[in-house]
Amino acid sequence: MSEPIGLVTSAASEKLLVGRRTEHVPTPWGDAPIELGTIGGRDAAVVLRYGQKLTTPSHKINYRANAYALRALGVRRVISQNAIGSVNPAIRPGDIVVSHDVLDRTKSRPLSMFDEEECWVRVDMTHPFCPDVRRVLIDAACAHSDRVIERGVFCCTEGPRFETPAEIRALQIEGGDIVGTPLVPEVVFARELEMCFASLAPVINFGAGMAPAVTHFGPGSMNDLYYTGGLHALIETILEQAFKAMPATFGCACGKALEHGFHGTRPAWLTRMGG
Ligand SMILES: [Zn+2]
Repeated sequence: MSEPIGLVTSAASEKLLVGRRTEHVPTPWGDAPIELGTIGGRDAAVVLRYGQKLTTPSHKINYRANAYALRALGVRRVISQNAIGSVNPAIRPGDIVVSHDVLDRTKSRPLSMFDEEECWVRVDMTHPFCPDVRRVLIDAACAHSDRVIERGVFCCTEGPRFETPAEIRALQIEGGDIVGTPLVPEVVFARELEMCFASLAPVINFGAGMAPAVTHFGPGSMNDLYYTGGLHALIETILEQAFKAMPATFGCACGKALEHGFHGTRPAWLTRMGG
């Protein structure tokens, strides 16, 4: 298998992920089930972040195991698919956002891959998302949709509940554009493991207070729009194209994130990964 491209998502259809098989990758935080196969003819390693049956809420995801497993499989580039809500009234359900920045409003998640080690890791987040993977996603999305928003501030909240109207107003004042729950710490751990990472985010609802209600399941809900309204199929088409277009080498600095951000002793597992 060549260097697989990583995908972190909620569901991957048989059409998207071809030749699918599950590999349980051992990590210091327990085994991580990773779906292997090909997407767009390229080797793929896919994390179904909410579990095979969508029973793991965002605040209970084993984020460190998932990130470690991808890196252990040789992944250097990760696409995160995030169906999200809008905070900015100009961004509407059906739009597709490729964010350029992050606002972390989580409360109780692991902060670093290195919390149990004798070291201090302080990675640069001037560009939280890899500019090169962002460009691949923007190009692939624009080829299939005229509703692509090429910049946006992704607000990550703790969940599992939805935000209140006051919280959405606060996020608006703070400069947020979209809101979702699992992006942090995924984006942080990718950087700490020197993997390129960017997010493709279809908008499936307005935030609380911007619409009569925010409904997750059932008729007229955000899941209804996403899975039966054609948006999920469109996103899979874009992902397939992005996998096909992913270049072998990049000019970004993601692969050197620890060079000026690591103080202390490198753990043996990091050295084994070539970090
Ligand atoms: Zn990069």
